[in-house]
Amino acid sequence: MKLIARLYYILILITIQNFNAQNFKIDTADHLQRKQFLTVYKEKSKTFNKGIKKYSSSENRELSKVFSAFQTSLEEDIKDRNYLFDERFISFVKEKVQMIADKNPGVRRDFNILIAKDNEPNAFNFGDNTLVVNSGLFYYLNNDNQFNGIICHEIAHAQLEHTINSILSRIRKNNDKKTEVSLLKKSANQQEKAFEMFRTMLYSNMKERREQEIRADSLGFEYYKRLGLQKVAFVSALQLLKSVDEQKPDSIYTTTYRRVFDIPNQKFKDEWLKMEDFSKYNYKLYTKKISEDSLKSHPNINLRIALLKKKLTDNDSIQNEQDATAGFKELRELAGKRIIPNYYDTEKYGLGIYKCLAILQTNPDDDFAKFYLGKFFNKIYEARKAYTLNRYLDKIDPKEQSYSYQQFLSLMWNLNLDEIQKIKNFYEKSEI
Ligand SMILES: [Zn+2]
Repeated sequence: MKLIARLYYILILITIQNFNAQNFKIDTADHLQRKQFLTVYKEKSKTFNKGIKKYSSSENRELSKVFSAFQTSLEEDIKDRNYLFDERFISFVKEKVQMIADKNPGVRRDFNILIAKDNEPNAFNFGDNTLVVNSGLFYYLNNDNQFNGIICHEIAHAQLEHTINSILSRIRKNNDKKTEVSLLKKSANQQEKAFEMFRTMLYSNMKERREQEIRADSLGFEYYKRLGLQKVAFVSALQLLKSVDEQKPDSIYTTTYRRVFDIPNQKFKDEWLKMEDFSKYNYKLYTKKISEDSLKSHPNINLRIALLKKKLTDNDSIQNEQDATAGFKELRELAGKRIIPNYYDTEKYGLGIYKCLAILQTNPDDDFAKFYLGKFFNKIYEARKAYTLNRYLDKIDPKEQSYSYQQFLSLMWNLNLDEIQKIKNFYEKSEI
């Protein structure tokens, strides 16, 4: 590039930066933190993988292969902006971990903390000292004590080395272990697959997993007791997660579609609501599968709650729970504001539109939902043009989806490119 051109280029850059000063600041902070995290994480991973030395040398090798494939996939996942580098969330988790470790000498405190842009209330410990907390956990929990309880449970998983044990028992059982690990390696650039496979490996043995959950509850409760907080919150946190799992998904009424998709340049068309006929479908065959799958993110939660309740005295159980601190309330509010952007950043455009519709159903003037509807439809439009829509919009699957969600998917697949474009153009004019 010639000097003058380069100067010009820099000038343009500066102008753009001034225009978007606010956004730019946030993006830069986020970008720097992400970069910093990755540098530290790579180093820590190397040390961790070399340090797995408790088992036979061939098992150590297999373990470190599985972990390094997982770590590569997690790094890709981080580069894809699936995690929130917002210091407010991260330092809150850090503080809690330090507090728990201070009161429980000998437990781990050096975690790689990540906040996932995931609206499901959950947290994970990935065995290599990576602790992932979904932003949805902040949204659904009622108070700090409940949050402390969940973190104690996760630290207990780490302390009991549940991840390593699960992978190890799988390696030992599986004669064909090489295939699985090499599959993981091969799909390292398709990080989602590798990531899923890692999770499947951990969760495939349901019996083992259930036992691990009960042990993590038990040890986690011991850690929690030493914090001197209301014991009832440890149990109520689990009850809350159970109730969220059991909540019916949002239902969108046809009147909502008729209102939201009836725009000045395009009248609503009845044919959009046409659905494939699944009436001959034998739902009975699938009831068992569905009930097994429900609560899949928190297996055996009823038994876990019953076991924990036994540890409470009558006096513990009748206490009114303390309110959330101002700090926790702020994070809960932030997590609520993240719900729709989380779908956008993690490219779950179909689910994002569904959520916007649910919001617009109760609050027709919600500008934030309208604004994002435009953004989502822009992505749907691009995907439809590139024949990649099935990456972002589920196929209809009557045995897995509610009727309302199937109706939504039918409508989305019924729209043609031109119709999508008109909806996109209309909602893209929304402002927040
Ligand atoms: Zn657990």
